[in-house]
Amino acid sequence: MSDSTLSRHYPNTQLYIDGAWRAGSRDTAVVNPATEGEIGRLSLASEQHLADAAEAAGRGFAAWRKVSAFDRSKLMRRAAQNLRDRAEEVAAIMTMEQGKPLVESRIEVLGAADTIDWFAEEARRTYGRVIPARAGNVRQIVTREPVGPVAAFTPWNFPINQAVRKVSAALAAGCSVVLKGPEETPASCAALVQAYIDAAGLPAGALNLVFGVPADVSKFLIAHPLIRKISFTGSTAVGKLLAAMAGEHMKRATMELGGHAPALVFADADIPRAAKLLAGAKFRNAGQVCISPTRFIVEESAYEEFTEHFVATTKKLKVGNGLEEGVQMGVLANGRRLQAMERLVADAVEQGAKVLTGGEHIGREGYFFAPTVLANVPMSARIMTEEPFGPIAPISTFKSYDQAIVEANRLPYGLAAYAYTRSSTTSAAVGEDIESGMVSINHHGLGIPETPFGGVKDSGYGSEGGSEAMEAYLVTKFVSEAR
Ligand code: NAD
Repeated sequence: MSDSTLSRHYPNTQLYIDGAWRAGSRDTAVVNPATEGEIGRLSLASEQHLADAAEAAGRGFAAWRKVSAFDRSKLMRRAAQNLRDRAEEVAAIMTMEQGKPLVESRIEVLGAADTIDWFAEEARRTYGRVIPARAGNVRQIVTREPVGPVAAFTPWNFPINQAVRKVSAALAAGCSVVLKGPEETPASCAALVQAYIDAAGLPAGALNLVFGVPADVSKFLIAHPLIRKISFTGSTAVGKLLAAMAGEHMKRATMELGGHAPALVFADADIPRAAKLLAGAKFRNAGQVCISPTRFIVEESAYEEFTEHFVATTKKLKVGNGLEEGVQMGVLANGRRLQAMERLVADAVEQGAKVLTGGEHIGREGYFFAPTVLANVPMSARIMTEEPFGPIAPISTFKSYDQAIVEANRLPYGLAAYAYTRSSTTSAAVGEDIESGMVSINHHGLGIPETPFGGVKDSGYGSEGGSEAMEAYLVTKFVSEAR
């Protein structure tokens, strides 16, 4: 690492409650996963801080919902511009705390600005309707109102992107937010909040940011009577717990959970292109992406060609500290992921899988794991059913279309799915037959602000993109008025 990368500044992070940054009741270390060294401190909330945040969100909601959609939209556009202006600085902070290559961090920050703009536009389109009445003196009006204060929980893999979708849709709708950001990657998430603060005009309490012990924070906020809506991104296991709590307290919920995306490659596809695009998507953010392609299922006659190209692309990837020029895959975000990768590979190999490349921890420091390709992986191997959330690609084969679809739909997950084919008949059939919230065919086309984003089955419910994302933060009111 050069001196210039070593000397970058990483800020400490506090809580943002009721319009002010505040110290927590204790603090904890933030670690750079590429060096395993402490780079900053993070304030953690006590129960009193959480109560303050919920109450502030109650007051913030009362004020923010009265701000016109036109003015909410203008403020949001200023926040988007603030992020764009700070993209370089924020991207470096994100890479230091999360490990992804600088180029990916930059894309995330600029993409977040686009997301804010998208929701700023949607803010002005929360239309209602008039329903023809049965009597001439009656007017029947349907309006959309903000649901109320929102508790949002976001993870460390995309420290800004996961938060910006929830915060921006909620604010666009007129809701206030208590955001529990990711404890492992807090400073870039705080930079998003700062972009909103600096947009000038948010009432105190409209947007609050807390960190703490995740289970304690969610338990407190979900039960809090002022909180009306829960939105969570994270694992299916935790999502089910939070959804149950939300149900117990009759709170609306959006759950963006795990996946195990199948990638079907038919023999008639442009195989070298499919291999290159799928490998690029697989190793983005070191595979720590909920829509990462996970099971590579290739038609038998194309298996060798696909595998050859996929492995060649994988071997060329430059792995290293995300701050270094030219690095294409960074470090895993934490030690848990490294251990998980080691366990998944050991289990697959024990059951007969062949490691075509990678398969091991690399480097003297940091949680680096080599981009890995596995062949001959039996269905009983854990990687074929558990979300790896890391840089491991198991490749298997199929003989017929029906067999491919059965395999694609085998798991309880249904977030993203991919297919490559030159046949329009096959591509139309795949689009219909795969049980998944999102299907991308012949390219990697998921995750932009204007398109729906969300899963089915164990991958959760609700959408975090497109106009559907606004629905999560709106309630319907019907007014029938006789004159
Ligand atoms: P984890 O399930 O403990 O944590 C995932 C996220 O949920 C973290 O941000 C964590 O702070 C939060 N969380 C955990 N328990 C919580 C609770 N009781 N209340 C509120 N928030 C809670 O696991 P992890 O080790 O951080 O990640 C492991 C798995 O999580 C991955 O394998 C992956 O399946 C999943 N994950 C998914 C996404 C996603 O984008 N869908 C993001 C990060 C992690």
